[in-house]
Amino acid sequence: MTVTMKGSDVAAAMKERLQHEVAELGNQGVVPKAAIVRVGARPDDLAYERGAMKRLEGVGIACQVFEFPEAISQQDFERGFAAVNDDPKIHGILLFRPLPKHLDEEAVKQMINPLKDIDCMSAPNIAKVFSGDETGYAPCTAEAVVHVLDHYGLDLQGKRVTVVGRSMVVGKPLTMLLIKRNATVTVCHTRTKDLPGTCRGAEILVAAAGKAKMVTADFVADGTVVIDVGINVDADGKLCGDVDYEAVAPKASHITPVPGGVGAVTSSVLADHVVRAARYLHGSEA
Ligand code: NDP
Repeated sequence: MTVTMKGSDVAAAMKERLQHEVAELGNQGVVPKAAIVRVGARPDDLAYERGAMKRLEGVGIACQVFEFPEAISQQDFERGFAAVNDDPKIHGILLFRPLPKHLDEEAVKQMINPLKDIDCMSAPNIAKVFSGDETGYAPCTAEAVVHVLDHYGLDLQGKRVTVVGRSMVVGKPLTMLLIKRNATVTVCHTRTKDLPGTCRGAEILVAAAGKAKMVTADFVADGTVVIDVGINVDADGKLCGDVDYEAVAPKASHITPVPGGVGAVTSSVLADHVVRAARYLHGSEA
């Protein structure tokens, strides 16, 4: 029978662990604190912000939103960002991107203290992910995939894993995290020849292409573990993943739904990063 891997179950287990870790920090007089930095008020940013704050506050992390006006100048934004970056009470910073076009995002990426860069936007953290150094913070969604596999006891060692997608947000960093776990990883993209055949060779298939229901039954061998990272809207206007769930689930040994799969774990990973940042910055962990 196919196991549905629910993000809520993974998030609940992470919450329990994080509440314990936050309590331990509390015993040392430290309240982990996250800053959410937003320029303007895009509805999708506001929706993500509400979800992230609920998850962070749910484990005992303090959150503060810093909203800047849409038309802010580069100089004023850098000044405001520097104040957040330098505040010793703030351990982790989530900056909503992309910034408005008139702002230089690269300059801000270079400013952030890598120890506070909980969303992996700075070069030092990206380099750590690519060099297998686990002291940095990986992009949250990529790391969420590994948490889902771990929670369901699915060992990666020596496994053939195929990742569809090679973006810097999901596909590439996830590939690095999987290699770190000794998986044998194949990465697919728009130029991959025989995509269904390549995917069929996988014991674990991760779809992160951003194409509604593109992974059909033809892509999956019997007994495959299928992780769907995609968040799309189908022809009927309903939220769906990159995987044609109805067609693929009967062949899969394990599968994540959309919604309610990987996406439900992403903000728990963010919470984990804030707690780690608080420990690093207070010297209770190397
Ligand atoms: P990008 O558009 O940046 O990258 C998509 C990647 O998939 C590219 O490497 C592209 O190949 C590849 N690709 C696209 N179409 C095909 C195809 N038909 N066949 C093979 N490969 C294909 O997307 P992201 O990585 O940012 O996001 C991927 C998905 O994950 C999206 O649905 C997004 O909404 C979702 N997402 C979910 C999150 C969550 O919390 N669950 C968070 C972040 C993203 P090429 O490089 O050749 O163009």
